Amino acid sequence: MPGNSVEDLVRLFEQVDSAVALTGAGISTESGIPDFRSPGGLYSQIDPMEYLSITAMYDHPERFWHFFVDVFSPIIDFDPNAGHQALARLEEAGRLVGVITQNIDGLHTKAGSETVIEVHGHLRTVHCTRCAAVVPLADAVEQVRAADLPTCPECSGALRPDVVLFGDQLPEIDRALELVQSVELVLVVGSSLSVTPASYLALQSARRAIINREPTMVDSICDVVINAPAGETLTALVEALVR
Ligand code: NAD
Ligand code: ZN
Repeated sequence: MPGNSVEDLVRLFEQVDSAVALTGAGISTESGIPDFRSPGGLYSQIDPMEYLSITAMYDHPERFWHFFVDVFSPIIDFDPNAGHQALARLEEAGRLVGVITQNIDGLHTKAGSETVIEVHGHLRTVHCTRCAAVVPLADAVEQVRAADLPTCPECSGALRPDVVLFGDQLPEIDRALELVQSVELVLVVGSSLSVTPASYLALQSARRAIINREPTMVDSICDVVINAPAGETLTALVEALVR
């Protein structure tokens, strides 16, 4: 049976030389950004493939962009919470080499984490599908709100989000794999681990720990599993490890 207390997690950190955090939507719910797979979440209301795939973007660009702007652009304005801050402090104290995240909200960077690998991309910018020019997301949002499809200021080509869509390659996966394979412990926070690459990345290290509100499929092969809110659990961890 895996350990289930913060004390067990502290002991695990004291046994390893290096660790990385792997975070999902659950670390940001305490900032007010809902996750997608919890009951009532976005994925129980829409079929993500129909709205968030490359095919959807090319076949129905107007519907794609209005959905994208309505659902994703508000995420830019949220602030990090105690969980993000605790991970930044653990990195600063040398207890973590960095954070690999599935989140697109940019909150780890806002909280002060230095090494952040965003495997599903981010919301800071979009880019041109023709000349690759990079444009702030806010500019594309403005065009969509003015009832236009967003176009490149350099060449008038179609713009696309720097968020990974269904059907895209994962641009940062090699860096993420390299980092996760270089450490002894992966600390998973707020991810159901029900999809790749999170599930795959979590299996790459010798030791594993999970902080998640509900059980996951890999719990039985973890050293520690804590089913509790991320913010308070990570705060307790940092208080015990960083003096
Ligand atoms: P997910 O399946 O990894 O699930 C989130 C998990 O977090 C759930 O198991 C839930 O029980 C847990 N959780 C929720 N609040 C928690 C808390 N306070 N403390 C501990 N655990 C908590 O992720 P998803 O919601 O299915 O999202 C799918 C994908 O969509 C993500 O991988 C991401 O790319 C994107 N997404 C991003 C954001 C964001 O950037 N904040 C938000 C939603 C979805
Ligand atoms: Zn262009």
